Amino acid sequence: MVLDDLGTSLRSSLDKLQGKSRLSESDVEEIVKEIQRSLLSADVDVSLVMELSDSIKSRALEEEPPGGTTAKDHVLKIVYEEMVELVGDSTELPLENQTILLAGLQGSGKTTSAAKMAWWFSKKGLRPAVIQTDTFRPGAYDQAKQMCERAEVEFYGDPDSDDPVEIAREGLAATEDADVHIVDTAGRHALEDDLIAEIEEIESAVDPDRSLLVLDAAIGQGAKDQARQFESSIGIEGVMITKLDGTAKGGGALTAVNETDSSIAFLGTGETVQDIERFEPSGFISRLLG
Ligand code: GDP
Repeated sequence: MVLDDLGTSLRSSLDKLQGKSRLSESDVEEIVKEIQRSLLSADVDVSLVMELSDSIKSRALEEEPPGGTTAKDHVLKIVYEEMVELVGDSTELPLENQTILLAGLQGSGKTTSAAKMAWWFSKKGLRPAVIQTDTFRPGAYDQAKQMCERAEVEFYGDPDSDDPVEIAREGLAATEDADVHIVDTAGRHALEDDLIAEIEEIESAVDPDRSLLVLDAAIGQGAKDQARQFESSIGIEGVMITKLDGTAKGGGALTAVNETDSSIAFLGTGETVQDIERFEPSGFISRLLG
């Protein structure tokens, strides 16, 4: 881990270890406090922060640093390993034929993310198609169509239909030559029963290979309920965190990852179709600690 990527206070606590070959309990306490401060202000759930703190403390004090390792390098390695454990690896996304179903509340960035993912798969040499089943939000059809035009990917939707399940079925048939089908769904402002019932029906109609939950980076602890509901209705294999170009650090999404026993697949970093990154632990860790 590059030290420059860490927050100033954590870096200065680590700098105090310069020249030391052993860590004292108070050294470890100070470092763990700085980490806790950063993670809590990045919206990481308190119980996850506490679990991480305990593991770092016990490992830093109990594990013998390998010969020649300074106290600072020893603790840094432990912090990094425990942080990787916390954020997890990125969701596996084989570059092959597949159907991806997107779930999430209205405004989370689903429609934008559908086009972004399609763009991402097209850059990997696959032929994606976006199917827009959101008949609830006015403008969703036009928005998705325009974004797919910008991404230069196939699009299917039916502005005259109010039956998302039928659109999903017809969309799969109409785009059967595509390799990757990305099915966008309607959101609501809250987790209403009709939203869950609708996405369950779409899920059984399209039989996705994976369902991804789209979460706004600013979600905070609201992620827990959403994650639980979507997990129990359709099963969540991965998360896309959007709007990471803003000030929110996206730590709340880790609650969803934890709740669904899944992982992070993509990060959204802007409003255009190219503003998508595959999740990669070290950059995200630096961001959370920074
Ligand atoms: P949906 O209701 O879940 O389909 O959400 P939309 O895709 O319509 O996105 C809601 C708003 O968030 C739109 O104004 C998008 O341009 C914006 N948005 C989505 N993803 C990002 C992102 O990664 N960064 C920024 N800055 N805005 C985003």
